[in-house]
Amino acid sequence: CGIVGYIGEADTKDILLNGLEKLEYRGYDSAGIAVLNEDQLNLFKVKGRIAALREKVDDRVSATMGIGHTRWATHGEPSEDNAHPHQSVSERFTIVHNGVIENYYEIRDEYLVDVDLRSETDTEIVVQLIEQLYNQVGDVQQAFRQALSLLKGSYAIAVIDNENPDVIYVAKNKSPLLVGVGDGFNVVASDAMATLKETNHYLEIEDKEIVLVYRDRVEIQKLDGTAVEREPFVTEIDA
Ligand code: GLU
Repeated sequence: CGIVGYIGEADTKDILLNGLEKLEYRGYDSAGIAVLNEDQLNLFKVKGRIAALREKVDDRVSATMGIGHTRWATHGEPSEDNAHPHQSVSERFTIVHNGVIENYYEIRDEYLVDVDLRSETDTEIVVQLIEQLYNQVGDVQQAFRQALSLLKGSYAIAVIDNENPDVIYVAKNKSPLLVGVGDGFNVVASDAMATLKETNHYLEIEDKEIVLVYRDRVEIQKLDGTAVEREPFVTEIDA
């Protein structure tokens, strides 16, 4: 189980696939990537290894932001439907997640009774919750913040919004996640190993912070919206 994300100017799919290969040691029953350009979101998922995902990804697709996942199933058998990324009903929001959402039954029964779920994962609950909350409050950041305040368990998550290809929404609780800082791009990874080729400058993320990862900047906030200032550290590991 590992996640990787990229937002910048370069073609995203190779960066994500290379990063996922470096994360395969964390678990690999299935994998997927979602890349977003101005026209559309392109989603590729497989049961199996990253090599199989690489075969499936359409070379013609070009995008400069996206998220990827290698899965070690905890809820729902290893299958293409249960592989991440997962999408909300309208397909506007797309998520990757590591960890376990402990209260996913409660969230489903309280907020998602009218939603036709597409997978058996605890993860899908999170992206559906974000969409339901967005439909109520009309603001993505606020919906993301409210969703996080309802989740119990462990997670590292990255979310993209089709309507806004300029940001990746990121958060963690008790699962590892770093934001890598580059010049004109930024990355997200469970382990710096995944993205060392891109950068050796990383920001630690604390539990229950919300991170907005843009091409040219990273904004960290507490759950209540207060801005947090933090300097990146330089990792010593070699690529
Ligand atoms: N609980 C999630 C699932 O089963 C994430 C597993 C993981 O961390 O790979 O899909």
